Amino acid sequence: MDQLPSLDRFNRIVIKVGSSLLVDGTLGAVRHAWLKALASDISALHGRGASMVVVSSGAIALGRTIGGLPKGALKLEDSQASAAIGQIALASEWSRALAENGIVAGQVLLTLQDTEERRRYLNARATLGRLFSIRAIPIINENDTVATSEIRYGDNDRLAARVATMASADLLILLSDVAGLYESPPHRNAHARFLPVVDRVTPEIEAMAGGAGSDLSRGGMRTKIEAARIATAAGTHMVIADGRVAHPIARIAEGGRCTWFLTPSNPIAARKIWIGGSLELKGAVFVDSGAAGALARGKSLLPAGVTRIEGVFARGDCVAIRNEQGAEIGRGLIAYDALHAERIRGRNSRDIAHILGTAGRAEMIHRDDMALAG
Ligand code: GLU
Repeated sequence: MDQLPSLDRFNRIVIKVGSSLLVDGTLGAVRHAWLKALASDISALHGRGASMVVVSSGAIALGRTIGGLPKGALKLEDSQASAAIGQIALASEWSRALAENGIVAGQVLLTLQDTEERRRYLNARATLGRLFSIRAIPIINENDTVATSEIRYGDNDRLAARVATMASADLLILLSDVAGLYESPPHRNAHARFLPVVDRVTPEIEAMAGGAGSDLSRGGMRTKIEAARIATAAGTHMVIADGRVAHPIARIAEGGRCTWFLTPSNPIAARKIWIGGSLELKGAVFVDSGAAGALARGKSLLPAGVTRIEGVFARGDCVAIRNEQGAEIGRGLIAYDALHAERIRGRNSRDIAHILGTAGRAEMIHRDDMALAG
């Protein structure tokens, strides 16, 4: 176990909680004692300074009981109605459980478009960033009330992995009703070997995943491996652990059985490689020598240092950053569209609200959204 990372070293942790853990399968009600224990584990990590995110399933499982909807497979409109009813209950359970530990919770409901369209992605990312800055814990779920089957995640494993990337989390913990990854599905082969660590998600690892999950949860091992692929590619380590015990996070910290998926990268480096690499450039911003020097020292690009705007781009598009000689010194995701960028260039960030009539971000390109040329 020595070579595995300790939970203490992580600063931003996403915890995904499966429906079957949170909601009692027979009663369709929240398992309060279990939630209370988990909330105290979360509070312990939060208390030592980590930013925490919870991706919680359970809206549909909870809502169908509260709303008296039919048993068995739900039709789309029934699962949407269940989600609408269950999400309120779910959010208030989390809010109460965290409040008992003196922590404020904030609800964030996401759709597939929010994580896949760059502009909406940046909005959601900024919201999470602000919640972290006030030490609140985002409680996230898919917005199942409006998501239809063609355009939804459907499982919170992959959603949690995308959230981890969006939040630049360094660890994703998937709590479910399995202990981790076995070489073959344990219900079919009692002697299947358990894998405590996976260095890389290879096709062989993917082949070990087998089929779907239990009745209440949509994700089986397959969506968990998919989540591992997304997370590790973006520099986030991932753990699959059995959440059925009381204090499941404390148990990981004590070296309890779980599967670690390791990454050689980290979220900031992975994001910068992604920005610097393959993106299509929609335009350019030219900066003065003062701003070029500030960028080299790791600062964000402020409107004041921008001398010229080129191209037609939307907020969130990738643009080149050019110096006074026109040489590309970096690339970044710009926080303003071309028309607005043109109006605020050369101006002090304090004047943005006055010039545009709405409050915008102080940075034209935030340093986390920027990759400087080698
Ligand atoms: N978003 C679904 C819910 O809250 C759960 C999806 C999943 O089980 O992964 O009910």
